[in-house]
Amino acid sequence: MENIAERLKSTQASIQRSTQEANRRLNSVKLLAVSKTKPVSDIVQAYEAGQRLFGENYVQEALDKIKTLASHTDIEWHFIGPLQSNKSRLVAENFDWVHTVDRIKIARRLSEQRSVRRTLNLCIQVNIDQDENKSGVAVSELDSLASAIQSLPNLTLRGLMTIPMANQSEQAMLASFTKMQDLFKDLQSRYPDIDTLSMGMSGDMQQAIRCGSTMVRVGTGIFGPRPNKQEKI
Ligand SMILES: *Cc1c(COP(=O)(O)O)cnc(C)c1O
Repeated sequence: MENIAERLKSTQASIQRSTQEANRRLNSVKLLAVSKTKPVSDIVQAYEAGQRLFGENYVQEALDKIKTLASHTDIEWHFIGPLQSNKSRLVAENFDWVHTVDRIKIARRLSEQRSVRRTLNLCIQVNIDQDENKSGVAVSELDSLASAIQSLPNLTLRGLMTIPMANQSEQAMLASFTKMQDLFKDLQSRYPDIDTLSMGMSGDMQQAIRCGSTMVRVGTGIFGPRPNKQEKI
């Protein structure tokens, strides 16, 4: 079996290939390595192979890893799991990014609780397929949430994030990604500093890159399969 460094390399190569095929600028797609359920030693292997952006879904598990790796000050930690209000302080104090904001209440708490000098980077999660099993704001509520977040201190709105419905046809998936691309461009026209469209995972990153993704979140492709797949995201 390939090791983490080799899988990381082939994931990067595949991102580059998709970026070129889409006639997009080289290095316009960042790779977020999703290390949820994986041990610190796996993160260290990826780190030693050059990876710096890591994504985690579960607050307590993530905090343990962040503490253990505190001397690795150039790691950028991204929270990509569902966020409950009672955990917002821990996220505000320990992460660099949150991809999964879908309520003004959470954004307000993150803003109030951010004690670190640098602002917390946020993406709004959009429930693009109106999937009742998924978090995310409805498209109709996106504009008002974005403008509310823009007015909060200690936060920087960076863009949008989505997880399309599982098991749909490739055509339906591309349609969802294209809708996200349109929403992203529209938001960017009003807020020119917005630069992040977080979409695409191990199984669909090629299609996401074709539709303008600027950050793919890859777990299985780098760290191998996770033990239980009954996670709710
Ligand atoms: C787990 C997870 C991923 C990574 O999924 P893979 O299919 O293992 O690449 C990406 N994004 C989110 C929000 C996740 O929860």
